[in-house]
Parts: sequence; structure tokens; C-alpha cells
Amino acid sequence: MSFQLFGLPVSKGVAIGRAVLVASSRIDVAHYYVGEPEIDAEIGRLRAARDIVATGLTAMKEDLPTDAPAELSALLDVHLMLLHDETLSGATKHWIRERHYNAEWALSAQLEVLARQFDDMEDEYLRERKADLEQVVERLLGVLARGVDGAAPLAAASSGREASGDPLVLVANDISPADILQWKGGVFLGFVTDVGGKTSHTAIVARSMDIPAVVGAREASRLIRQDDWLIIDGDAGTVIVDPPPSVIAEYRAIKSRRDTGRAGLARLRYLPSVTRDGEHVELLANIEQPGDAAAALEAGAVGIGLFRSEFLFMNRGGDLPGEDEQFEAYRVAVVSMKGLPVTIRTVDIGADKALDRMSANELRHEHALNPALGLRAIRWSLSEPAMFRQQLRAILRAAAFGKVRLLLPMVAHLSEVRQTLEALARARQQLDDAGRAYGTVELGAMVEIPAAALMLPAFLRYFDFVSIGTNDLIQYTLAIDRADEAVAHLYNPWHPAVLQLVAQTIATARAAGKGVSVCGEMAGEPAFSELLLAMGLRSFSMHPSQIVTVKQRVLATDSSQWASWLPRILGADDPEAQCAVAARAVAQTGAGLRAPDEAPSLVLSSPAA
Ligand code: PEP
Ligand code: MG
Repeated sequence: MSFQLFGLPVSKGVAIGRAVLVASSRIDVAHYYVGEPEIDAEIGRLRAARDIVATGLTAMKEDLPTDAPAELSALLDVHLMLLHDETLSGATKHWIRERHYNAEWALSAQLEVLARQFDDMEDEYLRERKADLEQVVERLLGVLARGVDGAAPLAAASSGREASGDPLVLVANDISPADILQWKGGVFLGFVTDVGGKTSHTAIVARSMDIPAVVGAREASRLIRQDDWLIIDGDAGTVIVDPPPSVIAEYRAIKSRRDTGRAGLARLRYLPSVTRDGEHVELLANIEQPGDAAAALEAGAVGIGLFRSEFLFMNRGGDLPGEDEQFEAYRVAVVSMKGLPVTIRTVDIGADKALDRMSANELRHEHALNPALGLRAIRWSLSEPAMFRQQLRAILRAAAFGKVRLLLPMVAHLSEVRQTLEALARARQQLDDAGRAYGTVELGAMVEIPAAALMLPAFLRYFDFVSIGTNDLIQYTLAIDRADEAVAHLYNPWHPAVLQLVAQTIATARAAGKGVSVCGEMAGEPAFSELLLAMGLRSFSMHPSQIVTVKQRVLATDSSQWASWLPRILGADDPEAQCAVAARAVAQTGAGLRAPDEAPSLVLSSPAA
């Protein structure tokens, strides 16, 4: 009988196929006591298993194809870190030595202890790392059972089944990054998991690999049976189990329209991005690692609008990258972009982006009652002057290799700007003293705190450009923790206060002759393209995979026509419902396919006739 499951839509698209169920991979372990004379041997067995798993993970990392998403390598690093973490390996040895548990029992006992600690964590991202820990322990248990690593559950699950010719989709309690790696060959068209949130590794990797996925569908792996036909709708976050043929046919049509649309869109990659009324629009990419620059170029980006440099600082157990290491990372990004501009944001650490697991705990539990409002971004940099100057020197040195823009996150006070200018002057002086080459940089500020938007003219005296971080601007305007699921329904980019701040920032910057860009998620969300163009925005920065879709909207928009409707849109008290309906209408008619005179997608009430 057909039924529907609901989860979180984490990666867009439609996948239709037969279910391949990977049973909850928790391995049943033997429980027995080891005698005193065997204890060292039992610990040796555990150590040998750990070495085998470490070798396997390292080899997997080294063998990553060059086009593998950067996240995969980072995920393997997380697993290696967990594998060697004292709270796992040290404590497990303790269970063997003190309680005489066999290695498997000791491991599962320690997993229970750590799992409970993860469950108690307030931070959603950290809570989700429990799944990584479980995957590492499962690998260890697998090696202890079989003596070898890498019996790939997914490979096993799918083997022989492709031969049937039916497309396959995966259903699991959770999927490890290592499994996804083996799956990269394209065996599965999509997946659904019981657990996981929007920032879970599974979701991050799915998005970067562009595979339709729904996570957090709670009972999926219990309710779905092997070989059931499934439709995974990665836009709606739904899974239709055993759909009737008419529904399959309907989704096939949606899928094929979407696939054709995307294939067509790919052709737009290298077209100049110009509106129907001749306005040139800069489409830039957001990146997290220097290696992402290749994907940005491939997607047709004309520069990097946001290099989130904090990703170079994270997951290193507190060991921060030095000046030379940072310089090399920035230089690689700059050189890869072949003369196109690269906007490097100084480290935006804090809140949901902790340096590492320990410091996240410390940050949250010891120092910061409310980390989103605490010591993060430029505030943190200014509280660590030596580290900040080190980063500034690295960025200045990279600027000798191309066009670099320096971007400061979360500025709210002019005193922060003045201190930054002093730090920059000192960094230049230090480079002069050391006889090191460096280049010039344009200086910009993120506008992501309402205070900065409201007193923009004062800030603009110091900056060449501003970049609107809508993710945080929404968070701070509406007082909604962007990482808190409980209030996620109130996190609304359509809120009139948000739209007015964005419009005002764009207008003020333009009037002052300064560059202005949007680098928050709003820039990559096609539903906002026309509206932002109408506000006068001519520079958008987004994930590389979103560029062609936004370009299509740009090419189809007459910005002057839209601009005349802007006061009406901004004047609306409650735009949400109308915008949602309008956006749905565009999705159905197909973005960019509108006739020139047809109503624009996001107009809140019909334009004056
Ligand atoms: C933003 O806040 O919109 C932004 C781009 O910065 P981040 O998402 O890294 O906080
Ligand atoms: Mg931000």
C-alpha cells in the first residue's frame, strides 16, 4: 500500500528507484571476560584493529579522485581524529584492563558512554557527530570480527542488484562518508535516512555531490521494505513508498523536465550574465577550501565572493594554521582563479563554527551563554591580535599573486574597523621589515548585523565594498538562532524588516559609489533573484552549483520593470504567503521561461496595470 514519509529536504532533485535497505549497521558483539594473562594481547588486538582502520581511512583519503568533493576528505579527517581520540581508545583500554571486558565489549561500552555525552550536547552540529563516532566504532568492530577493513555494506547491499536493471535508491539508518565514497560510482540515485539534520555530514556531502536526498525521516528504514519502489523528492523532503503507477509517471515527467532543464542550463555557464535590459551582473562563488576554486571556475563564476577562511582553522584540535600554511592556501585559491577576484573573509570562528570539539564545548559551556551573540568573527580576531595579524600577513602576501579583496565578518562598531585598520598597517609594516613581497587589497565589510546596515554611511567611509551576509542578518534581525530547529519556522528571509535592511544597504552603498554584494544563501536562491536585481544588486555570491540557475533568472529579468514594483513589495506588511505562492507558480512554469510581459515571480500583489 502506498504511503508517504516526511523528512528534511537536504539535496534537491527527484530520485525514483527500488529500495536497497542497509540494515542498522550496529554490529552485535560478543561479550566475554578475558583473564589477566590475556589482557595485553586483547589490548594488542584492539590496537591492531585501530591501525588497520587508520590505514584504510588514510588510503581512502589519498585515493580520493581529484574531482571528489572537498567535504569527503574533511569527513575522513574527522573519522581519523575520532579513531585516535583518547576518549575512545584510552577509555576502551581502561574497560579491558580494569573490567576484563573483551575488546568488542569494551568498545561498545565506551560507545554507549560517549553517545550519551553527545546526546546531551546542545549544539546541533556537535550532536550529529555521534553518528561519525558510531561509524568509526563499527569499522573497528568489523575489523575485530573479520580481521580486514572495508567490507563495504553498500557495495554488498547493491551487488548483483544493478544487474536487474532497475534503478536503485538507498535506505539506511545513517550512511557513513566512507560508504558514500564507495557509492560515488553512481550505483544509487538518491537516499533516505532515519537520522541526520541539515548540517549532518550526510547532508553536506549529498549537497556537494548533487544527489537527491531526504534525511531525518525517522522510521524510514523500519517502514520501507527491500525492493519497494520509492520516490525521493529532495525538494519537498518527502518519500513516497510504493507509489501507484500514475504517481510514478507524474514524477518521471517532473524529473525529466528538471533533467532537461539542467542540461540546458549547463550551456549557460560561460554566457555573460546580463539582464534583459542590459544590466551586467557579477555571479561569484562561495568557497571553503582553496581546492573549491576549480569548481567555481567550472561553474562559470567570475570570481570568489566569499572564501570562508575559518574552514582552514577548524577540526585541527586547536592547532591553528601558521602564516605560511595560510599564505599557501590563499595563494592557491588566488592563482587558481587566474586573475579573477578572490574575496577572502578573515576568520569567522565562534557560534556554530567552533575551532574543534573541545573548544566548542568550552565556548558554549564555559564562556558563552549565547555563542551567536558572543565572541565570534571579527570580535574573536581582535581578541587574538597576534593570530589576526598572522592571517592579515598571509592574505596580503597572497595578494601579490592576483586580485584579492579582504572581507571582515560581523562588524558592528566603528572601533572594530579602526582596530582592524591598525592591525593591517602593522601587518604591512611587519612584512616590510621582513622584506616580504605583498600586494594591495580592497577592504570590505560584511553587513550581517542590523547595526551595520543602519549606520552604513559611517562604515562606508572606511570600506571599498560591502557584502551582505543574509544568513546572519536574518538571524540577528529576527532574533532567531539560525541553528535552532525549534525556531526554524520563524527564520524567514521574506520578513519585511529583513527585505528593507537588504534594500537599504544596497541603495546606500550604490549611492556612495561602493561595491555591494550578497553572499548569504539568499543570493543563490532563485526565488530572490528578481527582487535583489530590483533592489539594484549587481553582484551575487553563492555555492558554485547554484550559479547557472541564478544566471538563468538574471537573463530572463528586466530589472527596470522590476524596480518600479519595488516600493510596493517593500511596503507589504506580510509578504510571506504571497511570495510563497508566487514562487511556486514560477517553479511550475519554469524559471526563465516566462514571456516578457508575464507577471514576475515574486511580486506581492499584481503590479499596477
Ligand atoms: C552570512 O551570514 O550570510 C554569511 C555569508 O556568512 P556565514 O554563513 O558564513 O555566517
Ligand atoms: Mg555570517
